[in-house]
Amino acid sequence: MALRPIAVSVVLAAALLGMNVLHDGGAAVLDGPITGVAGPTPSAGSTGSPGPSVAPGASPDGTPGASASPGSSAPPGASAPPGASSPPSTGPVAIPDGPVTAASAFRVWNHGPRTAKLVALTFDDGWNLDDLQGIVAILKARQAPATFFPVGRAVLRHPATWAEIAAAGFPIGNHSWNHDDLSRGPSSKALRDINRATGAIERTTGVPLFPAIRPPFGTYDASFQKAARAAGMRAVIMWDIDTRDWTGIKPKAIVRAALHAQRGSIIVMHTDKTNIVRALPGIIDGLRAKGFTLVTVGQLIGLPGPVPVFMDREQREFQKGR
Ligand SMILES: [Zn+2]
Repeated sequence: MALRPIAVSVVLAAALLGMNVLHDGGAAVLDGPITGVAGPTPSAGSTGSPGPSVAPGASPDGTPGASASPGSSAPPGASAPPGASSPPSTGPVAIPDGPVTAASAFRVWNHGPRTAKLVALTFDDGWNLDDLQGIVAILKARQAPATFFPVGRAVLRHPATWAEIAAAGFPIGNHSWNHDDLSRGPSSKALRDINRATGAIERTTGVPLFPAIRPPFGTYDASFQKAARAAGMRAVIMWDIDTRDWTGIKPKAIVRAALHAQRGSIIVMHTDKTNIVRALPGIIDGLRAKGFTLVTVGQLIGLPGPVPVFMDREQREFQKGR
């Protein structure tokens, strides 16, 4: 593709600056139309607008060089989403779980509001049963919420485990049917793919999908967003903290990356071919030691969805700590 050199240079620039270059499964990242428009996040009314570029947040927001990576900037209004506005200085503050307003009906999120010390753990893909079961056991033992974005085919491969994850109340979103790059090709193809994944996940788990999608490879464009909206998704969930677990790095390095989280961070991890199971206890304990409360993506951005059955305690701790 003619634009590939641009994409490569963006990735290299980001890498040279020591930033988190997005990958998901190790494949190339930036491959869609690059328009030079900063910010991947058209508002709910902008469907059909000329393609905002692919937007892997190649760096956490606000870092130098962010201009080199379209999509690294925060979505408009990210600092004040509905239901998650700045809390009053006194009194308990509820974890946001209110209804989503029309203005935020569909958005791209690289992170949640930077106002409270909330962090969302997310896990992608879902092929490897050992990893998956190890992750879930740790989350349950530590009463740590997290949000899953499995590939539809992976859910069908391990139906019993995914049904258990859903029954435990972990939100499960969409990560495509087979991890194809849905920013390629027509919107209609992406729509069919997303719907196929949603159908497989809902039939397997018996609960409605958490209506959010994480694009394979972190690549998306206006066409993808149009398809996602048409498929009933309410949000595109990116991330601002890439643990780089997909590179096979050691557990300590994964933990170190995760602990760079800021208020409102969304941390991406994977279930396959990684050391994430060995890293996860250190991530959870380390984030909590730094004063963060773990929440679901839905709680972070104010998009209603399931919460793990143990979240009552989590919420109490959050309120007590204010
Ligand atoms: Zn993936």
